[in-house]
Formats: sequence, structure tokens, C-alpha cells
Amino acid sequence: MQSYFHNLACSRCKSAYPADIPQNLCACSSPLFAQYDLKEVSRVVSREDLGYRVHSLWRFKELLPLLDAKNVVTLFEGFTPLIPSLRIGAALGMTALQFKDETLNPTGSFKSRGLSVAVSKAKELGVQEISLPTAGNAGGAAAAYAARAGLKCHVFMPEDTPSVFVEECRAYGADVRMVPGFITDAARAMQAEGAEKGWFDVSTLKEPYRVEGKKTILFELAQQFSWNLPDAILFPTGGGTGIVGAWKACSELRELGWLNRHKMPRLYAVQAEGCAPIARAFQQNLEIAPEWDDPRTAAWGLRVPKAIADFLVLKAVRESQGIAVDASDDQMRVSQKEMAEQEGLFVGLEAAAAVAALKQLIVNQKIGKQENVVIVLTGSGLKS
Ligand SMILES: *Cc1c(COP(=O)(O)O)cnc(C)c1O
Ligand SMILES: [Zn+2]
Repeated sequence: MQSYFHNLACSRCKSAYPADIPQNLCACSSPLFAQYDLKEVSRVVSREDLGYRVHSLWRFKELLPLLDAKNVVTLFEGFTPLIPSLRIGAALGMTALQFKDETLNPTGSFKSRGLSVAVSKAKELGVQEISLPTAGNAGGAAAAYAARAGLKCHVFMPEDTPSVFVEECRAYGADVRMVPGFITDAARAMQAEGAEKGWFDVSTLKEPYRVEGKKTILFELAQQFSWNLPDAILFPTGGGTGIVGAWKACSELRELGWLNRHKMPRLYAVQAEGCAPIARAFQQNLEIAPEWDDPRTAAWGLRVPKAIADFLVLKAVRESQGIAVDASDDQMRVSQKEMAEQEGLFVGLEAAAAVAALKQLIVNQKIGKQENVVIVLTGSGLKS
């Protein structure tokens, strides 16, 4: 497989952890990150080599944590197109707006990237049962890859989760539990049972490899932009794996020496007005994001009142000179309709939030009209 993965290290205190057993958080409660021998990768692989490989995120195998190819669990996730905006960008006076269409992934959202890698690695480490709390797409993706891998999957969902997500998990044969309250309550119920039964917890950023799958979005963008990254990238943000993965990928690409110029893209986190802990913390200059009381939004992927990686999301936004913003559900619905009618793209409310946020950022001159801008279309409208 020729992976150059060697160990895990804490994203906060830098403590190292062995990677030959399943791991969750550091002893200091922060996420663990996979470390690679990037010097060796840049010595043996050229960026041009990557263009001739499999049409999935597994083309970046040297920079992914799997050691043996036989453990890869794939449904051909990733390798998604970059689609130019025809009308929405022009209406804003923009010249180079493009959409990274993640709705084409297996299970209809970018969650499949993370779960392909996480389930593969769990299988490689001998895990037999995985579990996670989710109010949306993560459950379906986990259930699909677990089915493909032959692993048992336990999904804990808030009672009010839309039935489309519940049915999707059940279709893949997952053990689905409905829990009263929010996703935090579902997480508590899962931990209580999972600790006793030895399930491996694959919650967002409590598990180190989902973010590795997500980071491949940036590797693909680097290829699609001929090794010049765009000026600005907008990420609908809930738990933050997408934007944290992008930030990690930027630093790996820089160290690999694969980019033509050193300028990094500005990363924008987009949240829902009714659940915007990261955007609020950004405005208040805080390093962590206090829990959001009474989260309300129809964009299920953005209904995360407290993210374990809040400090990493805020760091990614600030170090890249981006901004954390929010959009209302009404604005999302307007943008969802515009995307479908004017671009032919039926996206979920989360992606529509990023389109709505872009309008504000252009009006406020935070993003220039001539800049290369990418919006990550995280999920399909068919589920909303
Ligand atoms: C999960 C999800 C998000 C949020 O992604 P994070 O990486 O958790 O921030 C956004 N959009 C959709 C469609 C999602 O399923
Ligand atoms: Zn630590």
C-alpha cells in the first residue's frame, strides 16, 4: 500500500500515540491527528503521478493511514467535479466562482469520504462493531461502509431526526436507536452502552481518521487548480471535520512542496443563524466555542451545538485569514431554490447556507469579485 503514515499526535499538546491499536481522544481530551513522513512522500511520489490513478480519494494512498490495500473499504468516494457557476456568480459580479460537487458521493454527501477512511482503518485494526451519534448524513455513510466492510454499526439519533436519515441507516442494516433530546443526548446514550460492549466510537474528530478522508477535498482541488489553490473556500460547518481537514491538507501540501505558490486559501466556516457557536466565538475573539443553547435549524448537518474540535476550526479560520459567518434558514431556502433553478444543482440547506453567506461576503467586500472562490456543496437536496 505504501502509506507513509507512522503515528498519531495530539492536535493540542502534541503527545504521540501508537497507531496499531484503535484510538480516540488524547488524554487531554483533544483530537489526535495522523502524522506522515512527508519528506519521504515528496521524494518517492511526484504530483504528476497522482493524475494517472484510481478515480477515488484512494489515489492519495501515501497520505492516508491504511497500511494494507486489502483493508480498503471503498464505494468510489471522492474524485468529485469542480463545476463553474453560470449565473449566481455572474449576478454577484464574480468572475471565478466554482462548486465542488460533493453531492455525487456514495450516500449523497461528503461524509462518505471520512467514513470510507475511518471504517477501512477500523477494519485494519480488527474492530468488529462501530458506533456513532448523528442527526444526519454521518449515520447513512457509516452504515453503508460498515455494511460493505462486514462490520456491525450502531447509530444513535435524536428522536426528531428526519425519517429519510433513519430509513437510510436501517436500509444498510444498522442498529438504529432513537434517543430523546439533542445529539449530545444521543452521544451520552451511545457512550454508556458502547463502553460496556466494546464498540469503537467513530464520532466526528473523536476518531482520528475521518478527518483524513475529508482532507482529500483539498488534494483534489490542488489537482483541479493545477497546483494553485483557490483564493477562498467556503465550508458549511457543523462538527468541523471538513474545514479542519482542509487546513491540515494545506499544511501537508505546503510541506510536500507540491504547490506552485505559497499563498494559502482563506477558509470560511459557514453556520446556521439558529446554531452558530463557531461564528459567535469568532466574533467574540474566543479560542473555544461555548455550547449553543437551544439549537434550531432545518440544516441538520449544521445543528452541532458544541464541537469537540472548536479550537481547531477557529484556528483554521483565523490562521488562513478567513471568517466564520452564519446564514438564516430563510436565506438558505432562497439560495437552495436559486442553485436548483439557476445552476441545475439541487443541494442541501447546508450547502445553500454557504451560497447565502457568499452573497454577504461579496457585498461586504470580504471576498473580491475577481477571486477564485470555491463553495463545497456538502450534501444533496434530495435528503432535505
Ligand atoms: C456533516 C455535514 C456538514 C458539516 O460538516 P462538518 O465537517 O461536520 O463541519 C455540512 N453539510 C452536510 C450536508 C453534512 O452532512
Ligand atoms: Zn493532548
